Amino acid sequence: MESNRKFLISLQDGLQVEAVWYGSGTLCLSSQAGCAMACPFCASGRHGLRRNLTCEELFLQLDTCRRAGIEPQRLTISGIGEPLQNLANVSRFITACGQQRLPVSLTTTGMPLTGIAELLRLPHNGVMFSLHAGRAATYQRLLPKGPGLAPLRECLAQCWPHLSGRQRRRLGVNYLLLAGVNDQPAELEALCGWLYPFPELTLHLLFCNPVPGSSFYSPAPDQADHIHTLLRQRGIHVRRANRWRQQLEGGCGTLLLGSSLENDKPAHHHQHQA
Ligand code: SF4
Repeated sequence: MESNRKFLISLQDGLQVEAVWYGSGTLCLSSQAGCAMACPFCASGRHGLRRNLTCEELFLQLDTCRRAGIEPQRLTISGIGEPLQNLANVSRFITACGQQRLPVSLTTTGMPLTGIAELLRLPHNGVMFSLHAGRAATYQRLLPKGPGLAPLRECLAQCWPHLSGRQRRRLGVNYLLLAGVNDQPAELEALCGWLYPFPELTLHLLFCNPVPGSSFYSPAPDQADHIHTLLRQRGIHVRRANRWRQQLEGGCGTLLLGSSLENDKPAHHHQHQA
């Protein structure tokens, strides 16, 4: 199987961001240098937000990948940053990619909620909302600066009647499984309750990439299998992260913000999760 490749991209002001190419053909782009969301399981937000990336800097990530001889089949803005907090540039980028027939999906916490309706009107190829919890207290712990479970559900409920069935099926929820944190029956029960008003949503179960200095880790594979089965039995349209995203260097939460101009060559990573 082809490995993921991580690209370190130097910006004109000396900041660096990362893009990850998955062996599946998807290139994952960063939308900000740093991130203000401060999710405790994530390396990207540890030093806060430095600044938004421009539309040109989003294209720079794509061009860097192409210069390395890789032609992505699709893009996802799911790397460093909260794309909703940089909506003007992200919107220009998605529209321009649409004209090139290059599909773009993205991952967001939904913060700020005021941008969601506009985001959903863009010619995107999928919007994934990071939830990671079914209960308010767990959400508060994992997404301390997110919009909150109830406000996000309320916002989606308002958008829902204006979306076609096809548009609804392009939306999903990301749930990063964390052992002892959000994998308990009561949490999953509450998650099902949150999802029921939106039957077309796909729930994506993600697995935690180890981050140095972090105490979060994903449950064992048999426990993850059990959770997957349980959710399916409850009528949830649930999928597990594909094998590329389970590789060590892949996935939201592992991308780091750099600040030197030392290295603008693509870094090659061939480590696989044990
Ligand atoms: S998980 Fe995403 S939203 Fe949260 S701090 Fe990291 S980059 Fe930001």
